[in-house]
Amino acid sequence: MFEVSQSERLKQLPPYLFKEIDRKKVEVKARGVDIIDLGVGDPDRPTPPHIVAALAETARDRANHQYPSYNGMGHFRESVARWYRQRFEIKLDPDKEIVTLIGSKEGIAHIPLAFIDPGDVALVPEPAYPVYKIGTIFAGGVPYYMPLKEENGFLPDLSVVPEEVAEKARLMYINYPNNPTAACAGVDFYRRVVEFAEKYEIIVLSDAAYSEVSLDGYVSRSFLEVEGALEVGLEFHSLSKTYNMTGWRIGWAAGRAEIVRGLGMVKENVDSGAFQAIQFAGIAALEGDQRPVEEMRRMYARRRDVLVAGLRDFGLKITPPKATFYLWVKVPEGYTSAGFTSVLMERTGIICTPGNGFGPSGEGYIRFALCQEEERLQEAVERIRKLKL
Ligand SMILES: *Cc1c(COP(=O)(O)O)cnc(C)c1O
Repeated sequence: MFEVSQSERLKQLPPYLFKEIDRKKVEVKARGVDIIDLGVGDPDRPTPPHIVAALAETARDRANHQYPSYNGMGHFRESVARWYRQRFEIKLDPDKEIVTLIGSKEGIAHIPLAFIDPGDVALVPEPAYPVYKIGTIFAGGVPYYMPLKEENGFLPDLSVVPEEVAEKARLMYINYPNNPTAACAGVDFYRRVVEFAEKYEIIVLSDAAYSEVSLDGYVSRSFLEVEGALEVGLEFHSLSKTYNMTGWRIGWAAGRAEIVRGLGMVKENVDSGAFQAIQFAGIAALEGDQRPVEEMRRMYARRRDVLVAGLRDFGLKITPPKATFYLWVKVPEGYTSAGFTSVLMERTGIICTPGNGFGPSGEGYIRFALCQEEERLQEAVERIRKLKL
């Protein structure tokens, strides 16, 4: 039998940092400990019933059983355009400026194939959702990391990107409200990004997966709202977090027509679009009753308040986030991210994600996902209260 050797592309993937933590998780579970998993950012509540009903109904229609169009159903893209107009007062051409995605991750991972040649640079924040970096590497590109630091409100400092790097960069990823730091960005930041992108001719990719997961009445802004943004960029959106639809795989990208077209050309050649019944469900989500979204926001705000109060009692400093369902928390003095994650797991059965897993600047932090019911978070708080370091 011949040896199966992986491509350089796969070998280039960053080492998996959670092996040791995964091993401990198995060990703790085997001891019969009641685990409270706040590690994974995946909404625990079901998709609202009217959305499920729309899928069930349209799945029965044989017209939906054949290949969909590669760039998405016109009706879905029109629905997205309407949503943008109502939500942000942004006018988009549904035919040229919007493409349906099989979840936004799919688009985020594929877009470098359209605009990155081997050796080209992509500006990638860290800590961050890993797909920006990996999509770049898969296309043969070179990520240049922009650290997100607390003292800058977890926004990248564009003024420290070296001139020669900026000149070579073709893409820049940004993500607000942010995973994992829960930081938000205002239009002033987006204006600086547009200015930078125009100067260096960089395509801006704004990941807005958490735009609707906003708490306490906070309303997040869109990158595309800023003047000039539609000339330099694209925004990725997802129904996953807003409507508890992570399993459904539906999202979209919207922005400058040539950029949408480039992504569409990649997709045309690697997938054949999203199941139409799922796009109909997406329309039901965007156009239907929005009360479940309001309820979702209140629910995460309550959960956040429970965990923030408990962590503060324990002595950790934390600023309550106004968006996302994450808490990004500094570990106590003398601990690393992995070290404190292990202590929590072994002595309380609580699982969180060590911040360094999202990039080196995440060292010294841990991330809690508020994807468990309030009673479970109360239970977590009780356990943390009894923890003596
Ligand atoms: C969850 C998430 C996504 C959304 O992924 P889908 O593929 O649309 O489910 C995108 N970006 C970030 C930062 C996320 O956390």
